[in-house]
Amino acid sequence: MKNILVTGGTGYIGSHTVVELLNLDYNVVIIDNLSNSKMMVLDRIEKITGKRPKFYKGDIRNREDLSKIFKENQIDCVINFAGLKAVGESVRMPLEYYENNIYGAVVLLEEMKKNNVFNFIFSSSATVYGDPASVPVDETFPTGGTTNPYGTTKLFIERILMDLAHAEPKFNICILRYFNPIGAHPSGLMGEDPNGIPNNLAPYITQVMVGKREKLNIFGNDYDTPDGTCIRDYIHVCDLAYGHVCAIKKLDENPGVVIYNLGTGKGSSVFDILHAFEKAYGKPIPYAIAERRAGDVTANYTKVEKAEKEIGFKAKYDINDMARDAWNWQKNNPNGYEEK
Ligand code: NAD
Ligand code: UDP
Repeated sequence: MKNILVTGGTGYIGSHTVVELLNLDYNVVIIDNLSNSKMMVLDRIEKITGKRPKFYKGDIRNREDLSKIFKENQIDCVINFAGLKAVGESVRMPLEYYENNIYGAVVLLEEMKKNNVFNFIFSSSATVYGDPASVPVDETFPTGGTTNPYGTTKLFIERILMDLAHAEPKFNICILRYFNPIGAHPSGLMGEDPNGIPNNLAPYITQVMVGKREKLNIFGNDYDTPDGTCIRDYIHVCDLAYGHVCAIKKLDENPGVVIYNLGTGKGSSVFDILHAFEKAYGKPIPYAIAERRAGDVTANYTKVEKAEKEIGFKAKYDINDMARDAWNWQKNNPNGYEEK
């Protein structure tokens, strides 16, 4: 499989995956409606790889946009990053989330089928495990118990994909459950560029480092963990990007539906992450202890054996690499992709 359609390809994870694909000589076509990303990302991709992917400004909910792409390009496989992803916003605007993420995925799959494209990779999330009964989790753990509409869109789409693979054996589907992607491209040219006040830990910390926010608020230090803060499995976005290449290769074996957790297998606390960023910064980062955030689970990190054994995926980078690259991106681009 050589020709890959990347939906949401100018977004954070999509752009890093596109770079990985282009470096490995895949042909890449992107569709993105630019609701949460900028055209400038294409310049940065070109600067890093020396190649400019074909770009369509369009929406995965729009059948004409999709059929035009499938008519104009011989696509072998679709990686679906397109979707809305802000947890808090999803609580306030559930219909927008169900419509964009679930309806979008269904329209995309229908148009794929019409155009005889049967290989699909889906960006799911560790959030589908809800509050796991124990850690590390593996792919056989029960899913459900999501605590917000965003997470529930991931859960529902997974179910839809399993039903589809069952009903239509031509489809080959890889569900990737990402743990916590952070970091940036080591060049400092691409990284995470959230709108407004960041919801997530790493971009919040780098905005404190660059002077845009006063201090990090740590959401609770009374959890049942060694230092009292929550534990997550942070994975470098470039490692995650490579995971998609492993998934494409797996789909070549016509596996039906397969599911992999993508993480490092190591749990890190909020303080571990803060200290990794302090190391990159060379000085302390101001913080305060705040109330627990609703919906946060105490600990979630993954077993890595299945992905390692079945698709040869193994993360290379540790949290110090993630912090170094995220800081390098933020300090070189204090306003993200905004024109200076
Ligand atoms: P992102 O917002 O940076 O990228 C998503 C891209 O999709 C954006 O460029 C946006 O403009 C585009 N988009 C949104 N709706 C669209 C539509 N209907 N049609 C066309 N384009 C559309 O997000 P990201 O962090 O790169 O995440 C990519 C995917 O991975 C998402 O599906 C997200 O839910 C999932 N995911 C992300 C994380 C994370 O922590 N970042 C964790 C688990 C799963
Ligand atoms: N967190 C925090 N302060 C922030 C943002 C996040 O203490 O400003 C904590 C959050 O409570 C969680 C961890 O950092 O324990 C990771 O949160 P994030 O939103 O990045 O990812 P999640 O695992 O919730 O998807």
